[in-house]
Amino acid sequence: MISKLAVNDLEDHAYTGRVVFVRVDFNVPIKNGKITDDTRIKAALPTINYLRERGARLVLASHLGRPKGKVVPELSLKPVAEHLSAVLGVDVKFADDCVGEKVDRMKSELKDGEILVLENLRFHAEEKKNDPEFAKALSNGVDIYVNDAFGTAHRAHASTYGMAVHFDIRLAGLLMARELEVLSKVRENPASPFVIVLGGAKVADKIGIIQNLLPRADKFLIGGGMAYTFLKALGHKIGKSLLDEEHLELVKKFMSRDSEKFLLPVDHIVTDNIENGEIREISERDIPDGWIGVDIGPKTIELYKNALPNTGTIFWNGPMGIFERDEFARGTVEIAKSIADSTAKGAFSVTGGGDTVSAIHKAGLESGLFSHVSTGGGATLEFLAGKELPAVSVLSDKNY
Ligand code: AMP
Repeated sequence: MISKLAVNDLEDHAYTGRVVFVRVDFNVPIKNGKITDDTRIKAALPTINYLRERGARLVLASHLGRPKGKVVPELSLKPVAEHLSAVLGVDVKFADDCVGEKVDRMKSELKDGEILVLENLRFHAEEKKNDPEFAKALSNGVDIYVNDAFGTAHRAHASTYGMAVHFDIRLAGLLMARELEVLSKVRENPASPFVIVLGGAKVADKIGIIQNLLPRADKFLIGGGMAYTFLKALGHKIGKSLLDEEHLELVKKFMSRDSEKFLLPVDHIVTDNIENGEIREISERDIPDGWIGVDIGPKTIELYKNALPNTGTIFWNGPMGIFERDEFARGTVEIAKSIADSTAKGAFSVTGGGDTVSAIHKAGLESGLFSHVSTGGGATLEFLAGKELPAVSVLSDKNY
């Protein structure tokens, strides 16, 4: 069980008058200078409020988009600082860089409870390279290091790893602590029955979860583009559907050893052209030549719904089809609704990943209908695959 020291493990007075650096995940979608979804900002509020209320002088740092080491004005965190100020109803200061003399001065001028948001960390190529000097510069004038950005925890960057080693204690924020608590339970001690629903396009991203959780999971319900590699492994015809040749042998191995644990589509929605082709329903497993599987069919939806338990644990990642198009969204929407129903009846459901969250919204559902919606995509998958996340490993243990 992963047990990391979190901000609420220290005495309240530990924060008073101290400069506390919090690596947050403010990587929000922005269009024409306006934030179109502030979920990630809201997710950071519990830690921000907790520390402010205890008199911390807060320095918040994040990346935004992919500026590739250059200043890209559209990817400035200034609108985020303004949004945070509006949400909290307090003044929020903004530094137009994340390192340097001016930033150091702004850090030192902070008063108890005040907030300074730094400019996009990735305007410096050194952030992703985990450059030691850059990491040292980030830690200038900081008393306490906190990481609340679970979504980037699988990356050893300067702000998530390199700078942390300059501090004796490295704390998890409240969001990070909750992610670790829930995902550790899913990974190490899931209430049974344990059912894992996997979809999306890339087998590579999910194979680690299958490998790691196979001994503990009761069933894997496989949908989306990745299902066709599984069907191919059983010798079915898959037409022009997605196929991951590279992982075919490994999938064959799983299927031959533990085939009773895998549910695969028994019917499909197919098209001959994803953009504007004819759409058909195929009521058997084999897909004729020239056709592409784009969603699970109605019989599969029923099969999967019946396999979702009303007790135990459900983990879901990845859409059941190309859900971005309404014509191919039914499987994803129905499975999302069914997981929400199972949750209402008593199952503990955990979902995660950007596409899965969009799918939840597409189904007209609220995140609150699931037990936990993880803020991580790649980080969640790697954690459940049993990998060590560098930004988590570097945090202090509870028994520090
Ligand atoms: P991933 O990042 O691997 O979870 O993949 C998510 C993407 O998978 C979404 O953009 C879906 O449109 C896509 N996807 C789901 N089902 C299929 C399919 N049958 N064929 C191609 N792409 C798919």
